[in-house]
Amino acid sequence: MSKYWSELVRRLQPYVPGEQPRDRKYIKLNTNENPYSPSPKVLETIKAAADDSLKLYPDPTCDVLLEAAAEYYKVGKECIFAGNGSDEVLAFAFMAFFDPGRQVLFPDITYTFYPVYTSLFGLDYRTIPVRNDFSIPVEEFYNSHGGVILANPNAPTGRFMPLESVVSILENNRDTVVIVDEAYIDFGGESAVKLVNAWPNLLVIHTFSKYRSLAGMRLGFAIGHPDLITALNRVKNSFNSYTLDRLAIVAGAEAFRDNEYYNEKNGMVIKTRKRFSAELEKLGFEVLDSVANFVFVSHPEVSALDIFTGLKVRGILVRYFNKPKISNCLRISIGTDVEMDCVINALREILNQAGINH
Ligand SMILES: *Cc1c(COP(=O)(O)O)cnc(C)c1O
Repeated sequence: MSKYWSELVRRLQPYVPGEQPRDRKYIKLNTNENPYSPSPKVLETIKAAADDSLKLYPDPTCDVLLEAAAEYYKVGKECIFAGNGSDEVLAFAFMAFFDPGRQVLFPDITYTFYPVYTSLFGLDYRTIPVRNDFSIPVEEFYNSHGGVILANPNAPTGRFMPLESVVSILENNRDTVVIVDEAYIDFGGESAVKLVNAWPNLLVIHTFSKYRSLAGMRLGFAIGHPDLITALNRVKNSFNSYTLDRLAIVAGAEAFRDNEYYNEKNGMVIKTRKRFSAELEKLGFEVLDSVANFVFVSHPEVSALDIFTGLKVRGILVRYFNKPKISNCLRISIGTDVEMDCVINALREILNQAGINH
């Protein structure tokens, strides 16, 4: 605290991102980054773009990126917004579509940035408890006063809600905006993007940080009715005309095109997820069915915190949430097969030390 801080800053409760440690080399499975490199074509594009043109501002409307996105999503360019990571796009969306005094609904177990944005923008919200199996009670999201925000697949559980449920929520919120954050959709879910033409109250958020291995480039997107996109642009242009730099714009366009590469690499991630889940179950873990690039697990006999600490001293970083309902769970990102074998070996050691033999 400082006397120089504004009232706003005094009451903020900032999001705490997963550690990015530099004290030693970890197997880093705590922030759901992709274990595989970005597409070589993307890297070449970035290198080629690092030239004299960087002295000039980038295109404020990111045209080449939006054109590639429009082709990929099979919607008009006017249905897409691009931003500096999906966190930024989400922040703009909270400003663009939610009003103070009208409760925004989201699940109690979900991406912890949502309550952070509501506090930043002075919005009101109500959380809807997920069921014991972490599934979403769909009807509880009907008739919101202020709008709805959902992650699908949900974070950090990895549980997917079928599109019929998304449609029911849209049907029962015709006067408010429903934001569906699909950060992990390409690892096995079915995207709601195909619904945007039919539902003017739907905004779908995507990121290149997970499936497209570009967490370091900061690229996020919103897909929705042109009126919603116009609102996002009004916010953006009141904040920073150039949220995406020249390198990100061309890298993003290329990443939309090189699907062959990404499908192959992420096919490996999905295969590894299945194998790793089966190995965990053999060790007695409860593994939630995941359609993301992470698994959400607990062990009936050893606490999540002990496992977290045991893994960390062995050079493996996973995510532990000290929060009600999930304080005995760990979220483990899916790395390469070699990395996940190290995790299994470390877990076996930890369980043995706790007197549990498998
Ligand atoms: C990772 C993640 C994001 C943030 O992605 P960026 O594009 O890197 O900002 C947004 N939503 C969810 C649910 C995520 O897990």
